[in-house]
Amino acid sequence: MPIDPTLPYDDANIFAKILRGEIPCSKVYEDEWALAFHDINPQAPTHILVIPKGRYVSWDDFSASGSAEEITGFVRAVGAVARAAGHVEPGYRLLANIGMDAHQEVPHLHVHLFAGKPLGPMLA
Ligand code: C5P
Repeated sequence: MPIDPTLPYDDANIFAKILRGEIPCSKVYEDEWALAFHDINPQAPTHILVIPKGRYVSWDDFSASGSAEEITGFVRAVGAVARAAGHVEPGYRLLANIGMDAHQEVPHLHVHLFAGKPLGPMLA
């Protein structure tokens, strides 16, 4: 079910539990600002989720109220994950679903990183 993006941050969401180490993940990267792990239901040969360590529901509240350090750290982390995974060439796709119409399911900001095959044109 897509989330209601107007609800406040829910500390019981699954990515909050992963950040607290209560639920395992297949970690590929971690720094002060971000954690990255393999998606449990991959839609491409490489499908990694990168999440900020702060309590943000989506790109909307992160971009509006994240600190400059958090935003810079997170953006750099996403790039570092892609470089570490070796996908700068021939390329990769980043995607963030925000709210109901985008069918965001987990109410903690996550950026999908897809790679490992020609991904074709965007569909929406
Ligand atoms: O952008 P959206 O919220 O729809 O994507 C959520 C993603 O989180 C899905 O791709 C799903 O497979 C992934 N997921 C995961 N591990 C979980 C729960 C969800 O990788 N424990």
